[in-house]
Amino acid sequence: MKNYRFNLTYFVLALLTVLLLQDYLKGVKTTVVPYNEFQAALESNEIKEVVVYNEEVKGYLKEARKKDNKTVIVARRVPPELRSELEKYGVKFWRANESSFLSDIFSWLIPMLFFIGIWIFLSRKIFSGGQGSFMSVGKSKAKIYVEKKIKVSFSDVAGVDEAKSELEEVINFLKDAKHYERLGAKMPRGILLVGPPGTGKTLLAKAVAGEAAVPFFSISGSEFVEMFVGVGAARVRDLFEQARKHAPCIVFIDELDALGKARGANPMGGQDEKEQTLNQLLVELDGFDGGEGVVLLAATNRPEILDPALLRAGRFDRQVLVDRPDRIGRLQILNVHVKKIKLDRNVELEQVAALTTGFTGADLANLVNEAALFATRNNRESVTLEDFNLAIERIITGLEKKSRVLNKMEQKIVAYHEMGHAIVAASCSKVNKVHKVSIIPRGVGALGYTIQRPTEDRYLMSPLELENKMAVLLGGRASEKLFFNEMTTGSSDDIAKVTEMARAMVTKYGMIKELGHIVYEQQQQSYLGIDQFSPKTKNYSEKTAQLIDERVKEIVDKAFEKAYHVLELNRDIVEKSALELIKKETLTGEELEVFFNQLN
Ligand code: ADP
Ligand code: MG
Ligand code: ZN
Repeated sequence: MKNYRFNLTYFVLALLTVLLLQDYLKGVKTTVVPYNEFQAALESNEIKEVVVYNEEVKGYLKEARKKDNKTVIVARRVPPELRSELEKYGVKFWRANESSFLSDIFSWLIPMLFFIGIWIFLSRKIFSGGQGSFMSVGKSKAKIYVEKKIKVSFSDVAGVDEAKSELEEVINFLKDAKHYERLGAKMPRGILLVGPPGTGKTLLAKAVAGEAAVPFFSISGSEFVEMFVGVGAARVRDLFEQARKHAPCIVFIDELDALGKARGANPMGGQDEKEQTLNQLLVELDGFDGGEGVVLLAATNRPEILDPALLRAGRFDRQVLVDRPDRIGRLQILNVHVKKIKLDRNVELEQVAALTTGFTGADLANLVNEAALFATRNNRESVTLEDFNLAIERIITGLEKKSRVLNKMEQKIVAYHEMGHAIVAASCSKVNKVHKVSIIPRGVGALGYTIQRPTEDRYLMSPLELENKMAVLLGGRASEKLFFNEMTTGSSDDIAKVTEMARAMVTKYGMIKELGHIVYEQQQQSYLGIDQFSPKTKNYSEKTAQLIDERVKEIVDKAFEKAYHVLELNRDIVEKSALELIKKETLTGEELEVFFNQLN
């Protein structure tokens, strides 16, 4: 495109130059004069010879005119008596056999060129407004990112050992394709990295390229949303064409779900473009057999919405799970990222890892950065554990909002509410210790908070543990009821969580005897929560529905009773601690321990 524009500009410039030069050359010696002046020159014998054209007569002077130093004079009139006059003065003359060919050509060629120029200019203006430029159909080089030298290596990606070991084979294949072909082995065509956002899928794909030292072609699925139908497909074709030229290499399609959404899954319709692109991708996937040394990687956080055709054997048939890291994984990730900061010697990263259950790699990278920011703000020499704690709190509960002030009554209610959570937690669970309670408003919606720190990651939970968890969540509301005999809106979040848990116990975990080991609600296999467009199907009777509702309510009621009972039993401790909380605004682990030790 760029080259093309340059050519056009040069062409126009050259044309103008020629035209101007022509005029200039013509005008150098020639001057147009009235016919009587021409006649006078004839009379005074200044003219050497004369050329007669159709509509003008040109006289070549013997010497340049004094007036303007011109040697040719032209009169724009050819009178019938010219011939006799020329003969009379004895001047050499002849008739020019004039051809109008050149001027004719120019008279239509120039306007035409002019309009073509305008057309090109306009069309470029119009089409470059959208994402896809009209002139660049099929020439998507600008949008395909190729990195020849990747600096990311496997040591930059931590906590995803399983995924790494699965990808190890790909690296070996890329390094030494011959070795694999020897026995006829072929690389799987496509490997799909599946996992929640921020777990390091993009990073992992890059690291594979870095380890194997091959070029890395990457394109994001969301970039295929193009203006013209067919552009995306052309782009896919282009991508693979280029990749084949650079083999061995890696082609990485990020956010595959944006492109590979199940066909016809969108009720809004108008999926023509994506369908074409997807079809082209399928064609390309079938087109190469792994022997070419092109390895296709893709990433998605929503594998459940992908078109089944993509996941068929021979296409993206290998899926590598990149899940949220466990505690040891988090420690490894932290170790990777703290290399970039100046860490205090006393910081025990194990502790930080233990406090960050559920954090992804991206969250942890963010955490390290936040901690470094806190340390800088406090003019510290190095980043301390304190900074990490602050950063964790910030990330968990959102930014501290110092400007928000609760009135005295609200503050009191929040204090009792939070202590309700804390006391129930301390009484019901010996594992999940409460580390901090605060009534400083933070983030949106949270008036106070209680941080309970599990000391280990849990994957399995018994009904009793779930019930305890619900009791803790309801502790806030129970406390409000016990001490103020009223309910506030502050518990809406707690209640939502409890309801979800209770429903899950009944309809997903099969924990209710009468309902059997049956799943009543299809698990939404979505990492990003509910899929808006798929309607909930209810494939059980009205009677069962009623039973489910009753049991859910029963479970919640029971959990509430439990919380209420605990608080009633420890009434004075809740009161004492709540007053302390109002005074100090935050209570830490040790301060809380004093109260917890007195619990009945
Ligand atoms: P995804 O593609 O899964 O959404 P990214 O690969 O874009 O996540 O991760 C974003 C950033 O988070 C990375 O650049 C890296 O700094 C950090 N990160 C994520 N996962 C890890 C990990 N497993 N090890 C180290 N850093 C990680
Ligand atoms: Mg990504
Ligand atoms: Zn609460």
